[in-house]
Amino acid sequence: MSTEFDVIVIGAGPGGYIAAIRAAQLGMRVACVDAWCNAKGGPAPGGTCTNIGCIPSKALLQSSENYEQVRRHFGEHGVLVQTVAMDVGKMLARKTAIVQQNNEGILYLFKKNGVTFVHGLARFEGRDQDRYRIAVSGTEAILSSPQIVVATGSVARPLPGVAFDEKRVLSNDGALSIGEIPARLGVIGAGVVGLEMGSVWRRLGAEVSMLEALPAFLPGADEQIAREAFKLMTRQGLKIQLGVGVEGVDLVGDVVKVRYLDSAKGAQTLECDKLIVSVGRLPNTEGLNGEAIGLKLDARGFVEVDSDCRTHLPGVWAIGDVVRGPMLAHKAEEEGVAVAESIAGQHGHVDLDTIPWVIYTSPEIAWVGQSEQQLKQTGRPYRAGRFPFAANGRARAMGDTNGMVKCLADAKTDRVLGVHIVGPMASELISEAVLAMAFQASSEDIARVCHAHPSLSEATREAALAVDGRALNI
Ligand code: FAD
Repeated sequence: MSTEFDVIVIGAGPGGYIAAIRAAQLGMRVACVDAWCNAKGGPAPGGTCTNIGCIPSKALLQSSENYEQVRRHFGEHGVLVQTVAMDVGKMLARKTAIVQQNNEGILYLFKKNGVTFVHGLARFEGRDQDRYRIAVSGTEAILSSPQIVVATGSVARPLPGVAFDEKRVLSNDGALSIGEIPARLGVIGAGVVGLEMGSVWRRLGAEVSMLEALPAFLPGADEQIAREAFKLMTRQGLKIQLGVGVEGVDLVGDVVKVRYLDSAKGAQTLECDKLIVSVGRLPNTEGLNGEAIGLKLDARGFVEVDSDCRTHLPGVWAIGDVVRGPMLAHKAEEEGVAVAESIAGQHGHVDLDTIPWVIYTSPEIAWVGQSEQQLKQTGRPYRAGRFPFAANGRARAMGDTNGMVKCLADAKTDRVLGVHIVGPMASELISEAVLAMAFQASSEDIARVCHAHPSLSEATREAALAVDGRALNI
């Protein structure tokens, strides 16, 4: 194996593997080093996203949603099912197979694009003039390159004093592998991961109680959308308590006891069989030995970068969860492409203002741009248009009429400033809004584009029409 490369990417999550492929497409000799191991100790590129994040969580969300549909909604269509049972083992095996397909897909893409993949933990050894030296665990070779992309991702944040044992106190990793449906599931943290995992196990029959420290539900989302989502999710059976302070977790026999302070009721205890702790993620630079080259971290442990993902060291870049900005796979990918193109002398750029957010609950929640409360805070004059899925023909035909689309546009120029959706397929619908914002479209631009009928996307058009008070179907 050659040890000298034009670019070495550390980490093969969505940030790293995409950076490696794009750099190879641009004619560079690229190595990508990744430490993740599958159950047999073999390589499992794809990072958090593929192995314990986006992909397996969506597999379980789909399986559990299918189960819920059969149990609760098929009857409305006249589809009568006598016995319904859930084979959790099969569901987990399906999830594992999907993860493996993705791991293998990435290895195939590396081969196809001529990227050298090295399995092991990369560690900075130092620098010789303009080349950085990197050792990889399990190999003798020292790799070197003048261009390094750090894409080492993030790890689950534990609750102080409460270690993950992945049997009863679970990180997002353990939450994806619970072998049987727990009767009582506790979740600390009602953010994206907590809501998605809580939804999976609630649909399968667990009684799910969520404890959230913040007083507001989904404070990053538009308030109206968050209120609607809270109403729908609690109606489905998720118990969500806001503004509580968790004081400690005790393991007593088979029971997990969470001590917490409720501002209204005082000291409380939640008893559950399993506890998922989803209180955020921390940037991961463990084992990287950044000190050997003087890599700077900020106070929170993120690698310090400028708006183009450059660190202060010449030729060293960092992308994805290990740097500032939303911890999202598609943000990491965008940065991967931009950095590869910048290294090739092109103008790589990521617009953090048009990164979409999605929560894959049912209904899904998705948004891009600014919320109504953010616009109010900045004093920017805006007009809002809303359209409920209850008035959309496709949503009625699907039997999925909860939620709405909301479009926010500048009061003077009509430029779209934000689009917020709670409802069916919000994850797919949001792309139109992202495209519109990337092209600096006005709400009238969206409103004047012909949308297929009947389709959920007509709700987006109607919300855009509603900005000017001329929605047609309500
Ligand atoms: P990672 O995916 O974390 O990959 C980093 C890789 O680097 C890992 O393979 C790691 O082993 C490797 N590595 C670290 N250090 C070294 C080293 N020294 N040497 C070699 N290799 C190293 N985001 C979305 O956009 N949509 C979703 O639906 C979504 N769902 C999620 C669900 C869950 C349960 C979780 C936990 C996260 C979810 N995310 C989702 C977030 C998403 O997974 C991350 O934002 C994304 O994986 C970040 O990509 P990355 O490339 O920066 O890092």
